Amino acid sequence: MFMMKLLVLLLFSVFITGCRGNSSYSLTPKLLLVSFDGFRADYLQKYEFPHLQNFIKEGVLVENVKNVFITKTFPNHYSIVTGLYEESHGIVANSMYDAVTKKHFSDSNDKDPFWWNEAVPIWVTNQLQENRTSAAAMWPGTDVPIHNTTPSYFMNYNSSVSFAERLNNITLWLSNSNPPVTFATLYWEEPDASGHKYGPEDKENMRTVLKEIDKHIGDLVHKLKMLGLWENLNVIITSDHGMTQCSKDRLINLDRCIDHSDYTLIDLTPVAAILPKRNRTEVYNKLKICSPQMTVYLKEDIPARFYYQHNDRIQPIILVAEEGWTIVLNKSLSKCDHGYDNSLPSMHPFLAAHGPAFHKGYKHSTINSVDIYPMMCHILGLKPRPNNGTFGNTKCLLVDQWCINLLEAIGIVISALLVLTTLTCLIIIMKNRLSVPHPFSRLQLQDDDDDPLIG
Ligand code: AMP
Ligand code: ZN
Ligand code: ZN
Repeated sequence: MFMMKLLVLLLFSVFITGCRGNSSYSLTPKLLLVSFDGFRADYLQKYEFPHLQNFIKEGVLVENVKNVFITKTFPNHYSIVTGLYEESHGIVANSMYDAVTKKHFSDSNDKDPFWWNEAVPIWVTNQLQENRTSAAAMWPGTDVPIHNTTPSYFMNYNSSVSFAERLNNITLWLSNSNPPVTFATLYWEEPDASGHKYGPEDKENMRTVLKEIDKHIGDLVHKLKMLGLWENLNVIITSDHGMTQCSKDRLINLDRCIDHSDYTLIDLTPVAAILPKRNRTEVYNKLKICSPQMTVYLKEDIPARFYYQHNDRIQPIILVAEEGWTIVLNKSLSKCDHGYDNSLPSMHPFLAAHGPAFHKGYKHSTINSVDIYPMMCHILGLKPRPNNGTFGNTKCLLVDQWCINLLEAIGIVISALLVLTTLTCLIIIMKNRLSVPHPFSRLQLQDDDDDPLIG
């Protein structure tokens, strides 16, 4: 009986959740995507964030977001908005070289659409839908005409523009544009800049910058409320990667292992991209014995788990430093950094979200950064382009989706098996009862059988 009740209850909750999903949020969904560069997931546990915690209390938190390899700013921001690994979207580093066209890419030379056109970011897809508009305050790539399209409203990148000015623009565009802005991005350089400068374990300096970030989040929520945008707007606050503590002694000096004339250095640390000038094997052999704290890969041997191989912009040899180690040349200095193996927890950011599409007060342990894209497309009602994300990984965050965790799933399977076993037993018992002859008629038969013997 209890099992039957459980099943009925389950079916009822599926029905209720389904119904709730169809009617819960506004017909013109809007989404603001915010990135605080280099916001390591564990800052949330180690420092105080009163405004961010209020935001989470009324929304959802994903404690750990697994970013893509290599763990750098441009590639990871592009993965969030395309749902693609770096080898598929083509922004494979902050510094790139294309051997066919002989073009170079860097953070100060990033405006050529050639680099970005291997993918279509969500703001472009959103723009191409009738009556929809995108706006951006400095997310990497938003000031470039990707597939001949920029957001209708955008700012050219300039690191000295204050957070307040970026926020002013975004809120103005969200409230005053016609057709309305339905997708907007906001980018801020901290705590990445301070993380590089002081190291993530410098409590005093990091506390100062993280307090400022929390104040920015407070200002953002306050402004959205004042303008009447808060109730209908979905807001995602996330980041591109974390940060690793450094040490001046943990240096890997390439100049001690190989002559400069043997190769062209495309990118340096903590993942160096090496283009050999003549003999690839010779360069590889010299680098391979350079340091026990550095793994050297020929392009074809890069582990599949990095999803970092199938693109011409990935160089013939890459060097991956161990966590906390810096690859240097004779004259370069060490700095705390990110970029390392993306399975390291220190590389991971977090995600918090609030709005009509999201549950209230829900905590989730982990998703991949490429999962954010299909979730955003779902919220905006856009058809996602082919991507490496899994929508199912974010279902538990959304009010219009039904999701169960592993324990619940195991419970349901065990309950169903118990119900089936009980039913089968009952059927067998009933069947046996029906097929057993009545004891009285059996006695009679025996009497008849015995008669001749007695006689
Ligand atoms: P990273 O070297 O990976 O730590 O990159 C972070 C830096 O990238 C920031 O401090 C900015 O200087 C730079 N940056 C971020 N967004 C942009 C952009 N849209 N255009 C140019 N540079 C940017
Ligand atoms: Zn970054
Ligand atoms: Zn950085």
